[in-house]
Amino acid sequence: MNKQLRKAVIAGNWKMNKTPSEAKALLEEIKPLVKDAGCDVVVCVPYVDLCTALEATKGTNIGVGAENCHWAESGAFTGEISAVMLKEMGVQYVITGHSERRTYFGDTDVTVQKRTRAALDAGLTVIVCVGEYLEQREQGVTAELVAMQTKIALGGVSKEELKRIIIAYEPVWAIGTGKTATAEQANEVCAQIRKVIAGLYDQEAADGITIQYGGSMNAKNADELVAQPDVDGGLIGGAALKAPDFAAIVKAASK
Ligand code: PEP
Repeated sequence: MNKQLRKAVIAGNWKMNKTPSEAKALLEEIKPLVKDAGCDVVVCVPYVDLCTALEATKGTNIGVGAENCHWAESGAFTGEISAVMLKEMGVQYVITGHSERRTYFGDTDVTVQKRTRAALDAGLTVIVCVGEYLEQREQGVTAELVAMQTKIALGGVSKEELKRIIIAYEPVWAIGTGKTATAEQANEVCAQIRKVIAGLYDQEAADGITIQYGGSMNAKNADELVAQPDVDGGLIGGAALKAPDFAAIVKAASK
């Protein structure tokens, strides 16, 4: 299927950056720069910035997402936020399985599946992150590992629900390190993930799903990465915090 028929999505992942006032200032800078984007534009922001982001982006082409959600609707989970809560606020997207959640906060393939399930049930679109550590790449197990992460995360997800899933391939060794995967490496794994989707569902589902690359994507390397046939945009960390850089990546994905 022609890549142009798929939706490219550029999503910023702000991580634990920007207070509400800083978030407003950054969004005011971003808005005019991306208003004519030819791809979907999303900002995933800290929970405390969600209200500000929703208000600041009202009536614009920028979608708002959270960076995580709990799998229960409510209950005794001090410090957690449910997908239902996010949905009621007007949030449209949520990230699950980011490598920083897996590495520092004990997220596993099973909890990623539970979070993804809860987010779909609440009506959100989910950006599911998968990716290998450097040691795993060096051992030659990237394809199997990423396939397993994808299959477990999507356990129980119907073909209809898959329309609200975006997969972000993020090699852990490339996140926040300045070491970007080569365009060929990024495309190779995104294509492998697409094959996994074809096996789990069918070719139509595989052709239609948005698969992003993430890991030190920036204004300079975005053109080559997003031009790859199986790379449908990106999940952007550091560069999403600078309006001109984020806008340049959006522009690259709009071609
Ligand atoms: C991320 O946090 O998802 C990410 C890709 O970060 P960075 O762009 O900073 O590597």
